[in-house]
Amino acid sequence: MSTQKLAGKVAVVTGASKGIGASIAKHLAAEGAAVVVNYASSREGADRTVEAINGAGGKAIAVQANLAKEEEVSRLFAETQTAFGQVDILVNNAGIYGFAPLEEINAGHFHQHFDLNVLGLLLATQKAVALFPESGGSVINISSVVSTSAFPGSAVYSATKGAVDAITRVLAAELGPRGIRVNAINPGMVETEGTHAAGIAESEMQSQVEAATPLGRTGQPQDIAGAAVFLASDESSWISGETLRIAGGYR
Ligand code: NAP
Repeated sequence: MSTQKLAGKVAVVTGASKGIGASIAKHLAAEGAAVVVNYASSREGADRTVEAINGAGGKAIAVQANLAKEEEVSRLFAETQTAFGQVDILVNNAGIYGFAPLEEINAGHFHQHFDLNVLGLLLATQKAVALFPESGGSVINISSVVSTSAFPGSAVYSATKGAVDAITRVLAAELGPRGIRVNAINPGMVETEGTHAAGIAESEMQSQVEAATPLGRTGQPQDIAGAAVFLASDESSWISGETLRIAGGYR
């Protein structure tokens, strides 16, 4: 009998071509899940994630879909159904973070963030749960510590993650009767391709966050992935509607 925690399960990880999503995809696969590695534009990154999984004896496919577009969200799950027949685990990780002080906020900035981080997450969840088996499944939303902290210049991004925490609570209540658990992971600052591209990694902001972090460092993607495996597995079978801060003690 397999000792893998997710043997026989199918997981969709959105935004898994790099960063936190890529690490979660690899960790879920190492526990036996077949993984759909979604990406928007980084084909090479997605292929690297898939090759790492398949090379380690796991099972994965890459599916391109811009999750800010409803028809592409639908196609992601149609292709998942064709490839693997069902979905048991959804990790809503795809997200963007742009910082803008109040005077620079405009409709474009707002919609760019909310269309992916909030509407994309809701639509992905809607389409995924339609493919969950009758016994239920697990939805894991990648939120952020910004949902409760206060970084100047992050009003819109933080608002998207506040919405993700609220959605997590509501959908846990709404979907619980179907055996579907919904939880959030709220990472602190994690070094990824995204934080390097945004100029956050190795910035003054990073030094300030590290100084305020009891464990004295920022995170790496694998610091987050173990909790995703836990929340995907039966080991968390009575945990739903929670937000789990993973931030080295940062508050
Ligand atoms: P990242 O390195 O920038 O990677 C983002 C991933 O999302 C990539 O795979 C990217 O795909 C995908 N993506 C972007 N736009 C997409 C779209 N429209 N449709 C589908 N996929 C899309 O990001 P990260 O730092 O790992 O962050 C991942 C998640 O963690 C985000 O939700 C973020 O808000 C959250 N988070 C991050 C931190 C941090 O410090 N890093 C802290 C707290 C929370 P392509 O490469 O193909 O574009």
